[in-house]
Amino acid sequence: MASENPLLDIPFDIPFDHIRAEHVVPAVDALIDDAQARLDAIVAVDGPRTFANTLGALEEATEKLGVMTTVVGHLESVATTPELREAYNEAIPKVSAFWSRIPLNSDLYAALKAYAETEDGKALEGPQARLLEKTLDEFRRHGANLADEEKEALHALDVELTRKTTRFAQNLLDETNAWDLVVTEESKLAGLPPSAKAAAKQAAEDKEVEGWRFTLQAPSYIAVMTYLDDAAIREQMWRAYNTRASSGERDNRGLIVEILKLRRQKAKRLGYADFADFVLEDRMAKSGEKAMAFVDDLRAKTQAAFDREKDELLAFRRELEGDDAPALQPWDVAYYAEKLRQSRYAFDEEELRPYFEVERVLEGLFALAGELYGIEVKRRDAPAWDEDVRCYGVHDGGEMIAAFYVDLHPRENKRGGAWMNALISGASLDEMGPHLGLFCANVTRPTKEGPALLRHSEVETLFHEFGHLLHHALSEVPIQSLAGTNVAWDFVELPSQIMENFCWERASLDHFARHHETGEPIPEALFAKMQKVRTYRAATAQMRQLGFATVDLRMHRELDPEALTPESMLAFARDVLDAHASAPVPDDYAMICGFNHLFASPTGYAAGYYSYKWAEVLDADAF
Ligand code: ZN
Repeated sequence: MASENPLLDIPFDIPFDHIRAEHVVPAVDALIDDAQARLDAIVAVDGPRTFANTLGALEEATEKLGVMTTVVGHLESVATTPELREAYNEAIPKVSAFWSRIPLNSDLYAALKAYAETEDGKALEGPQARLLEKTLDEFRRHGANLADEEKEALHALDVELTRKTTRFAQNLLDETNAWDLVVTEESKLAGLPPSAKAAAKQAAEDKEVEGWRFTLQAPSYIAVMTYLDDAAIREQMWRAYNTRASSGERDNRGLIVEILKLRRQKAKRLGYADFADFVLEDRMAKSGEKAMAFVDDLRAKTQAAFDREKDELLAFRRELEGDDAPALQPWDVAYYAEKLRQSRYAFDEEELRPYFEVERVLEGLFALAGELYGIEVKRRDAPAWDEDVRCYGVHDGGEMIAAFYVDLHPRENKRGGAWMNALISGASLDEMGPHLGLFCANVTRPTKEGPALLRHSEVETLFHEFGHLLHHALSEVPIQSLAGTNVAWDFVELPSQIMENFCWERASLDHFARHHETGEPIPEALFAKMQKVRTYRAATAQMRQLGFATVDLRMHRELDPEALTPESMLAFARDVLDAHASAPVPDDYAMICGFNHLFASPTGYAAGYYSYKWAEVLDADAF
């Protein structure tokens, strides 16, 4: 009954109310067959190769499969059920296996190269020329130019890399979960806010122990580091956190050395000096050298402010505890920084909430986009995956150029965090159609007593995700795989981060930040406080990010993995991070063994951690 499966041919108004788990696997099988048949047809072209029968056909071959996979993946994140998860877990490996075989299809590669050599291929311009270049690059970067036995070797490296990085992530997860600390004397909990105390009590009850239980999960760990008066407990927990997976049976040190080796070997096989040059070739930075120069430059500009912040924090401690108070230890920094912040600004983020009623925030956000880009955002009717979800149209003149869904609040069947997703691209060489996308968040819900009043950081999140959505919705690039958010990774956060700036400007805030009862704008004194807090210890935060970016690039560029031991790797990482830390770290400091961004997947953020700062510089300049 193929015709009854809504996933086989997904229309613009996606029938979310008709998609069921049992549709997933048959749709995946059918659409993979369909895509494979289209690829075979490209290879079999008899007669002259043209854009339409070769490159354009390749672009279209996987379109339906792509949209279907995105829609199913989306439902798994916002409306999961045990049946859907099972179907998803069965289907996804088939889809990834299909994608990974495409660049190794040597007949297809030959067809593309043959097309590139035709007069038609050589005469391409603009986005079409870019598509040809990117497609050939992608095949080459996946080993299409290698001899068969070298392809095998490359494949073996990839398999091993997946195995080792998965192991890294599992070790870290197990180590994090294996540690806890139960405190039985309430007097030792001085300083901790009631919410953190209640969470610790609950965590103890869940394990059926007496007292208060603390873990290395972020909310528990951060609360202790920031607020707990007892320095000995802070030290114990800091040491546990920062030596995770660095010894014993879950030792990640050796795995890091192995991962660095595999990555270097992969880069060399593909003709690059090192893994950073391989990864960065198709990003804005272009090479490891340029990314490193960027990080070094930013560090030089941050150093003086960073040193001032360190001195200021020590001076503050001595104000509190006398001139002979000792230098700060790593487990003291967050604690005294919070005390200093409170004493200097007496700023409570909760004071801002009444000014950020969620409906007004959205209206203000859409009005701002209208002012900036000359568009109009209007509600529209469309089926959705939950009654909480709304749909909007983006209008330009008389035309609807895009539509998008907004899913704002937490639900049990929805994952955490905030994100944007592109569902359908209207990009086309003939006539652009409307784009379809969405953004999701997990912000404060309305209650029975009153409307949803957001924290300022939640407002920033909505602006950020809507910026990604606009990037997709306003795209005029006529080729799907190059349109919207399909840009270099170190650029993709510009359209989102630039929107955050408007949450800090009086002129834009006054449009939508109005007291939900009185309609008053944010009072001047509160606005001034919030501006000051924004840059409080910003150099320290920046230096920390630069430390991560530096250790990442230097490990993937400078280190010779063949000459590395677990001990020398750890010492190298420790020294680099120590130079960026607010207080000297101990010899066994092993943050690197818990650095998921770099080592929990074959590429992930490896040689790419600098991108956070890179995009921030771009958006600051552009704003
Ligand atoms: Zn983002």
